[in-house]
Amino acid sequence: MPIDPVCGMEIGEETEFKVEYGGKVYYFCSPHCKAQFEANPEKYIKEGGMEHGHGMHSHGHGHGHKKHGCCHH
Ligand SMILES: [Zn+2]
Repeated sequence: MPIDPVCGMEIGEETEFKVEYGGKVYYFCSPHCKAQFEANPEKYIKEGGMEHGHGMHSHGHGHGHKKHGCCHH
């Protein structure tokens, strides 16, 4: 059973939604998934390579410098 690489659903081989890419045929459950794949095939082809993005945590230290704008004489 082919699997829709976009949503992970099992697809019947009689589906009309298929794309040949890189010498392989990919099947899709819907035109929506097919369009998603065609827009960014590399994203869905990567197998077993779940990349853990080490996102830089930006600690926003908001030092609020209060300025006393009073006129002290
Ligand atoms: Zn799908």
